[in-house]
Amino acid sequence: MRNQLKHYINGEWVESTGSETHEVINPATEEVIGKISLGTKEDLDKAVKAARAAFPSFSQTSREERVKMLEDIAEEYANRKEEIIDVITQELGSPRSISEKVHYNMGYQHFSEAAKALKEYSFSEDRGDHTIFKESIGVSGLITPWNFPTNQSSTKIASAFAAGSPVVLKPAEITPFAAIILTEIFDKVGVPKGVFNLVNGTGEVIGDGISSHPDIDFVSFTGSAGVGEKVMKNAAETIKTVALELGGKSPFVMLEDADITEAAKAAVSHIATNSGQVCSAGTRMIIPASRKEEFEEAVKNVLPEFPVGDPNGNNYVGPLVSEKQWNTVQSYIQKGIDEGANLIAGGTGKPEGLEKGYYTKPTIFTDVKNDMVIAQEEIFGPVMSIITYETIDEAIEIANDVVYGLAGYVFGEDKETLRKVATSIRAGRIKVNNADMDFSAPFGGYKQSGIGREWGDFGIEEYLETKAVLGFPS
Ligand code: NAD
Repeated sequence: MRNQLKHYINGEWVESTGSETHEVINPATEEVIGKISLGTKEDLDKAVKAARAAFPSFSQTSREERVKMLEDIAEEYANRKEEIIDVITQELGSPRSISEKVHYNMGYQHFSEAAKALKEYSFSEDRGDHTIFKESIGVSGLITPWNFPTNQSSTKIASAFAAGSPVVLKPAEITPFAAIILTEIFDKVGVPKGVFNLVNGTGEVIGDGISSHPDIDFVSFTGSAGVGEKVMKNAAETIKTVALELGGKSPFVMLEDADITEAAKAAVSHIATNSGQVCSAGTRMIIPASRKEEFEEAVKNVLPEFPVGDPNGNNYVGPLVSEKQWNTVQSYIQKGIDEGANLIAGGTGKPEGLEKGYYTKPTIFTDVKNDMVIAQEEIFGPVMSIITYETIDEAIEIANDVVYGLAGYVFGEDKETLRKVATSIRAGRIKVNNADMDFSAPFGGYKQSGIGREWGDFGIEEYLETKAVLGFPS
């Protein structure tokens, strides 16, 4: 049982000032795996005070000191690899191979990439008599979701540390243990007192407290659009800078000349990876009407390559994170049926033989119209909508006809058409065919998918203020 009832404030594990606790559930077994404390506003105040006190010295540390700190963190993170994989498998229900290749790896890459970017980053620029300085933004409040427990926290913390900004982190209460391991790592490598603070708790108390706290200068929030709106409204009262990484409903445009099997594999992996609980998943398959039957056949054939089941077994798709998420996904599948889309795989209910655990069937709808709810709203589960187009201009129009703009995907051969689609989709990150992941490339959304960019040097930039000094003596 992982009972971790303390918060980490000013370089120490401290008791919560409140008595409320929260039970963390393994979604594959529905069993309680541990408890955390739900912090109070008093706990948050203490953490903010510690971060504020650390700010003057931490913001003045040298680039070399912070590079060393990030490299030490990356090294210690690698030492804790097996525990990180275990914890993510238990609290999120992610299959072990995904916990390693995706979750563990992303956290590691963010710390190493921030160290690399920091080595090159230019904190001042001379413009004739004037100099432009980039300085730490101050105390940052970080609020993260449950679907990528190490990735979301690590990208924010790594960038903040690179910029010399002390932080207060509130991870999602349903997957809090990965952040506790991160905290132990920071403690072990000697992150200065007050530079990193962890306060566990609910969104309503600690999340709300962070976004409205007068002594927090910047809030970086990742989560749903609805909560993002609340964070922004709260932050407006103290004119805080806000970065929002919100939801998505990303288009995947298949071109006329695409290799159908490769496209089908890529498409199914979008709904299967992390059980479709991925903000940037390409869940709207926009395909040429002329290749509809062929594509439907191909995705059905590919589906068994992504087996659903026990995360500790040899499976690709684990359960959804919670009963609440399971109910949400079920209601969207039912909605798709009610709206008249045609099911070609999956459907409501649990997969056969998986009665315990929040497992859901990977589901594929065809004959979807882009104005259906299942094509417009983020489902956050393994559900694909196939939508057809006649011309490439129509494909682009459908791709952009959503309130979100986090990511986009285009698959095919003709270079000119690939370029046209990639540059026409209004989204922050586009992937052409099976392009490799690049942790130095910015990540963030257009439209209602958010404000700001994370990862690499773009991430560091978010934790910096710009100062112009006119007539700076040389
Ligand atoms: P959520 O918005 O419910 O919660 C996110 C975090 O906000 C949690 O820590 C939660 O406790 C906290 N919170 C809840 N109410 C709050 C309030 N009133 N004030 C401040 N904080 C509050 O989101 P979720 O269900 O945890 O995560 C799923 C969502 O996150 C999806 O919409 C997904 O697309 C999005 N997401 C976006 C990205 C991205 O980079 N754009 C990455 C991952 C997830």
